[in-house]
Formats: sequence, C-alpha cells, structure tokens
Amino acid sequence: MVEPALKASGGLEPGVVTGEAYKNLVAACKAGGYALPAVNVIGTNTVNAVLEAAAANRSDVIIQLSNGGAQFFAGKGFPDGDLAKVLGAVSAARHVHLIAEHYGVCVVLHTDHANRKLVPWVDALIDHGEAHLRETGKPLFSSHMLDLSEEPIEENLEQCARVLERMAPLGMSLEIELGVTGGEEDGVGADLDAHSDSSRLYTQPEEVMQAYDRLTPIGPFSVAASFGNVHGVYQPGNVQLRPEILRDSQSLVQKERGTGANPLDFVFHGGSGSEKEKIAEAIDYGVFKMNIDTDTQFAFAERIGRFVDENPKAFRYQIDPEDGTPFKKLYDPRKWLREGEAGVVERLGQAFEDLGSKGRSLAQA
Ligand SMILES: [Zn+2]
Repeated sequence: MVEPALKASGGLEPGVVTGEAYKNLVAACKAGGYALPAVNVIGTNTVNAVLEAAAANRSDVIIQLSNGGAQFFAGKGFPDGDLAKVLGAVSAARHVHLIAEHYGVCVVLHTDHANRKLVPWVDALIDHGEAHLRETGKPLFSSHMLDLSEEPIEENLEQCARVLERMAPLGMSLEIELGVTGGEEDGVGADLDAHSDSSRLYTQPEEVMQAYDRLTPIGPFSVAASFGNVHGVYQPGNVQLRPEILRDSQSLVQKERGTGANPLDFVFHGGSGSEKEKIAEAIDYGVFKMNIDTDTQFAFAERIGRFVDENPKAFRYQIDPEDGTPFKKLYDPRKWLREGEAGVVERLGQAFEDLGSKGRSLAQA
C-alpha cells in the first residue's frame, strides 16, 4: 500500500492522512501535549471553512461526518435515505481528498457515531474505502467510529473487533465508545443528561483495559470515554467533567500491561462549551481529538442571522420598493453563506488555541 512520504524533518505531506501517517499524527499530538478539533461538516461550505481555518492557524484538523451530515451532503431530497448516508459520505470524502492538500495542512477524515442500526453504514463505507485504496493507494477515510455503548460491553467489543479486522489492513483506525456520552447527536446517544443519576456517564477503567486487550492485537483504535461529557451546550454548572477517569484508565493499563505512559488514544466528545482547564487536563491524559459541532453550528447561523438583520429588505425584495436599488449583491447566496463560513473560521481559531494545535501542523514541520 502507498503511504505518503515522511519528510526528513519528521513532517508529513499535506492532505488526507491514513495508515502510518495517521499514527504519526496521533503520536505527535500526544507527545506535543495538544489535540485536534474534529469538526462535523454537512456540505462543501463547512468543509471549506474548516480547511480555511486550519490553514490560517497552521494546524492539522479532523473533518468528520455524522450519518445525518452525510445524508445532508447527498441531499435531503435524495430518494433513498440509507444510500444517501453512504454516498454523501463518499462524496464529502472525495471532495476533501481532492482539495485538502492545497490548503497545506494534514486532515484526518472520520465518520461520527454509528450505533447498532448504523453498522451497515460503516460496513458500506469500508467497501468504498477498499475500492478507493485499489484506485489511489489510500483508503477513503482515515477512521470510522462505532458507538455500541448501549450494548453490553462484550457485544460492543466483539463488533468493534470484527470491523477493525476489516479496517486495519486498509490503514484505517477505529474509534469506539465506552460508557455513555450524555445528550444525543443526530439521534444517536442515550437520553441521559448530567442530571441523570447514572454511573453510565462515567467509563470504568476496567472496561478500558478490556478494550485495550481485545483490540490492540488487531489494529489502531481510539476510545471515546465518558467522563461526564455531554453533547450540546447547556447551562453552566450542569456538567461535572471528571477527566481523572481518563488518567485512571491510562494508569491501570500502564501498570497492568507494562506499557509506557498514556498507552491509549482518547477522544473527547461533547467538547462544545467546555472549560479550558478541563480541556487542558483531558489532553494531559491522552486526548488527541476533541469533537466540536454545536459551537460551529451556532457560529455559522449567528453570522448569517446578523447579516439578515443588517440587510432585511434584501431578503424580502429583489429591488428596493422605495428607491429601486437592486439587492442582487446581498441576496446572492455566496454573500451570506460566506458570512456563515467566516463565522466557523473565527470560532475554530479559538478551538485551535484552546487545544494547543495552532502553528503545529506536521505538514509545515
Ligand atoms: Zn459524540
């Protein structure tokens, strides 16, 4: 299989990273004490905004699609919803493969939560990944996620092992979920919030070691562990983040299996609205990826809302009914969609700062 050349500097070629390049990128994040934002996208507007933001901040970045985002990418009017989820993800990934390298940063391409009903979606994407590997030397995605956290852990890990056995030979990684992230995302996720009196919101270190033992011999994987994180943004004070759960899981595996420090690659779901100190603590305990969706959705909408407020007539009339001024330059979707993109770029600037990835792109090393 073809791998992007490693530069003498230890850097990577820009564009989509898979296989060894992906592993090097994750290792660099953990060694350097920073993480990458994983931003949910739904169309070329959001993809391009993420790439623009990464380039402007000289950071590598993770672009991901939920099943709903993938369906939207193919079109809400696409006749077959299940097929739209597959082809929308393929279409998004091809777009990223084509243009990402020109932005001069490394991009991890990923799909978000897939519960039991969505396992066929992931399998179909792996089929497309195999075809893409044959054609181009790279799989289509760097990684996929299986979220079987609602199933008993044995079933969760059995299914994850089966899927990772397919993915590892293609140079792909698997993200799994242990414990339950509160809130819900695109219909996937438990109907728990931080008020729920439930230990399920907190992953048990023993489960993390069980996953480590089952999956390490098969291939690269990461763990979305629950430490009180919740999807969405809620009133301050509702969420009690306990990143020490990550630390305790790392130390248990390190001690029991004789590994180096931070043997596991952790993922932080529900990062929107989190306190900076807790983010920094989570990174110390091996988080290399923090998902961000709610905050970039709001950034996109807020800017467009502001633009509409400032130019209300342009969204009601083609020509000003009072003085005949044409409004074409204002209602042209490129004008107000660009506002939304700029909102995402600005918000992500803060994310790169918070996660410490600004200025550290391996494509520029
Ligand atoms: Zn999530």
